[in-house]
Amino acid sequence: MTPSVRTVAVVGGGCAGVLATRELLRGTGDRVVLIEPDEPGGGLAYGSARPWHLLNSRAGAMSADPDDPGHFARWAGCSPGEFRPRAEYGRYLRDVFASLASEDRLTVRRSRAAGLSATGVRLADGSEVRADGVVVATGNPAPAQPVGRPDHPDYVADPWAKGALEAIPSDVPVLLVGAGLTAIDVALTLTASDRDAPITAVSRRGQLPLTHTEVAAPPVGLALDDCTTLRDIVRAVRAEAARAGDWRAVVDGLRPYLDEMWTAFTPDEQDAFLRHLARPWECHRHRMAPSVGARVASLRQDGRLEVRAGGIRSMTAPPAGGLLVELEAGVQWFGAVVNCAGPGRLPAAAGSFVGSLLEAGQARVGPHGLGLDIDPAGRLISAGGRVQPDRWLIGPLRRGAKWETTAVPEIRSQARGLAIPVG
Ligand SMILES: Cc1cc2nc3c(=O)[nH]c(=O)nc-3n(C[C@H](O)[C@H](O)[C@H](O)COP(=O)(O)OP(=O)(O)OC[C@H]3O[C@@H](n4cnc5c(N)ncnc54)[C@H](O)[C@@H]3O)c2cc1C
Repeated sequence: MTPSVRTVAVVGGGCAGVLATRELLRGTGDRVVLIEPDEPGGGLAYGSARPWHLLNSRAGAMSADPDDPGHFARWAGCSPGEFRPRAEYGRYLRDVFASLASEDRLTVRRSRAAGLSATGVRLADGSEVRADGVVVATGNPAPAQPVGRPDHPDYVADPWAKGALEAIPSDVPVLLVGAGLTAIDVALTLTASDRDAPITAVSRRGQLPLTHTEVAAPPVGLALDDCTTLRDIVRAVRAEAARAGDWRAVVDGLRPYLDEMWTAFTPDEQDAFLRHLARPWECHRHRMAPSVGARVASLRQDGRLEVRAGGIRSMTAPPAGGLLVELEAGVQWFGAVVNCAGPGRLPAAAGSFVGSLLEAGQARVGPHGLGLDIDPAGRLISAGGRVQPDRWLIGPLRRGAKWETTAVPEIRSQARGLAIPVG
């Protein structure tokens, strides 16, 4: 971006939008208009988290400031190795945002963006925010939906929707579609109050996220110079994990190189990774806090949570309510089915704003439909293949062009990149 005084509109005021706003105000002379319908600093992960939802990263990894890794831990008054509540992290983000409030170059528009115009951002109320540059920070695509999803009140398509889980009675068996971190969040919420009826989580592999150790092993660097294919890398990672004693050290040591590796894969290798390795990788990479892992283990031991491998063949709605679900083991009745699959693929899972960018040709779907296409600096690429010099993307929608793009350390460095002129 050029250093002259300009107006940049940041669309979305979740974690990425707040960090982008902070970097733009601190690192440039730009005026910033943040467009967000809710209070800035909320968003999917931290906005409506309950007390039992903990960060899956240690406090020392969660600073808003790339130059000051201890900022969040000091703010929270904790040690960098602790796993703090996600709601507390939301308060931290709101506090970070509040510290910018006295800045007269900042304007907040509590509204929803509907699309981009030649001169800025169109809002849902029909007005326009005039801007020289735009940062798209609207978060994840909508959740993926299982084949044959019913349009039924006992099917919860989006577990993050307000009130979605509170409406589920505590005396009916519940099926969770998916066994990742979202399913863990939902299981913790459903079992936070008295619940006798069992919860079943079903996913293709029946694999839950793994757990952090109380004390982190230092990351182990891996020599990958001799690896030319995905297969070579997998072999090297397995061998090093066996040697290192704690596989977590190897997984964590790989993190800084993952984007480089992902972009070096051929499209076929990326595809093979997505089909066979992405899920096991996520289980190892995005781990539960130790106390969450212990709680999940005790729920399983008590028979309150069962995890099964396999697919869902069909779902039908009997007249008496609930859903009849055909699983590998046969047909079973559940009082509610909660979709806990991760983000869906574009263009189907684009919300209305991203959908409008695609429709207008202002953006195009990126590799494998995981996000939007960008150039190496993070600028959107139009349907015609042209880099859009003043339209930027940060956060989870960079996935596909990048691999590691959803966690705070990556988002804060993307935000910092917005304030650095492209050479
Ligand atoms: C459950 C969960 C737990 C996580 N835990 C961790 C963790 O422990 N550690 C870690 O490093 N990472 C974690 N992450 C990952 C990461 O921190 C989040 O994905 C991150 O919050 C992404 O920020 P975001 O701003 O891109 O998206 P969000 O936080 O979802 O924010 C998007 C914002 O955009 C707004 N918006 C959407 N559409 C429009 C529109 N048209 N106009 C205006 N505004 C709009 C929304 O209202 C929302 O506020 C977690 C993610 C999830 C989902």
